[in-house]
Amino acid sequence: MNNLVYSNNLFSGTREELVQILKENLSEKRFQHVLNVEKSAIELAQNNNGDIERASIAGLIHDYAKERTDDTFISTIKQKHMDPDLLNWGNAIWHGIVGAELIHDELGITDDKILTSIVKHTTGDVEMELLDKIVYVADFIEEGRTFPGVLEARKKAFESLDAAVGFETKHTLSYLINTNKRVYPKTILTFNKWVAE
Ligand code: FE
Ligand code: FE
Repeated sequence: MNNLVYSNNLFSGTREELVQILKENLSEKRFQHVLNVEKSAIELAQNNNGDIERASIAGLIHDYAKERTDDTFISTIKQKHMDPDLLNWGNAIWHGIVGAELIHDELGITDDKILTSIVKHTTGDVEMELLDKIVYVADFIEEGRTFPGVLEARKKAFESLDAAVGFETKHTLSYLINTNKRVYPKTILTFNKWVAE
């Protein structure tokens, strides 16, 4: 999708300019990852009658803040009077929820659908719109992923996006439990909505 032209004023510049900003802000590995997520997101949008331009932008920027310092996130949470409970968490949670604020302020992206998909991309949510599901699943199935089960996840993603959301949520929650990691409460709510009977 290198010839994709942005025409809906969701971002003030061209796709190439946005890609350049990401190249400058991310490690080579993560830069590759966001390009892959963009590609998967566009494919999922095409498969589900979704918005291609939003899929491209959200895919590219979803990890925009991932490599920022803890101090940046902590001061943003305080400055913007965000939920103080966020201070009890770390980069995995911050780069989506707080990252959306940095994207808004630094990239000038104000589209609610795009920003919400960034907020929800790590934890999922009970309420997920099409773009939220696309970004959440694209992040999980992009071509650089090699975890056991990724082939099944990719297959599911193109059969049923909702089933893929459930599959991914269960996989993520299992991983957190198996490695004795803390579970952000919203992840459990996501599980209850998209996985539990
Ligand atoms: Fe992420
Ligand atoms: Fe990601």
